[in-house]
Amino acid sequence: MVKPLIAANWKMNMTTGESVAFARRLAENLAQLKDRKIVIAPPFTSLYPVAEILKGTGIHLAAQNLHWEKAGAYTGEISAFMLCDIGCRYVLVGHSERRTLFGENSEGVNKKVRAALNRGLEPIVCIGETLGERESERTFDILAKQIKEGLNNLSTDDIRRVVLAYEPLWAIGTGKTATADQAEEVHGFIRGELGRTFGKEASSGVAIIYGGSVKPENITGLMAQPDINGALVGGASLDFESFARIVQY
Ligand code: PEP
Repeated sequence: MVKPLIAANWKMNMTTGESVAFARRLAENLAQLKDRKIVIAPPFTSLYPVAEILKGTGIHLAAQNLHWEKAGAYTGEISAFMLCDIGCRYVLVGHSERRTLFGENSEGVNKKVRAALNRGLEPIVCIGETLGERESERTFDILAKQIKEGLNNLSTDDIRRVVLAYEPLWAIGTGKTATADQAEEVHGFIRGELGRTFGKEASSGVAIIYGGSVKPENITGLMAQPDINGALVGGASLDFESFARIVQY
């Protein structure tokens, strides 16, 4: 049985003051929920102060990106080593905005996944198809390729520490959610692909979460599906009440 995981991706939003105030409310109101994992991914500028507030609460901190090298002349980048140093447990890798706006490819995603795992971080690896790919019935081919390339050279032990986030690009920030049935079909496919590569036992323990316009109104239907183990929430995670309702689906 995979423990449900609900993650907030704040993207490039929230000042440090706003992040701290949100984290305090989370710690006060939701830290008692031990049957699910709550993860928040603030912008880099808020990670440290938020880490201080979340310490000892059981609510986890994630970064939104990392560089695969440990240190060096990489202006503007942050390493897995640095993220661990300030208390991150998770890191988003290969979000579609990174792939489409910043030219990330699967080779880079794979380097980041391996760097995260080597430092003890748990990568939340984002995969998903565009509307055009879905309409031309290429969803499964695209996802199989993203899984194969992004998770290349991982061991069975590694895969147990990976979270897969299925985020169809046509549903991110658009208000269009995949129906629970559409999402479940893809999650089942992803689990099957993981099973073919890493074995059924390891794949059955991997958290596969859904992202794409998740809101309080649709979370219950999504979480009722057997292969949907949680959600990655963008827009609806910026408002405390809305995120709290999603977490308490
Ligand atoms: C995301 O960016 O990961 C996301 C799922 O965004 P939204 O919930 O706003 O669609």
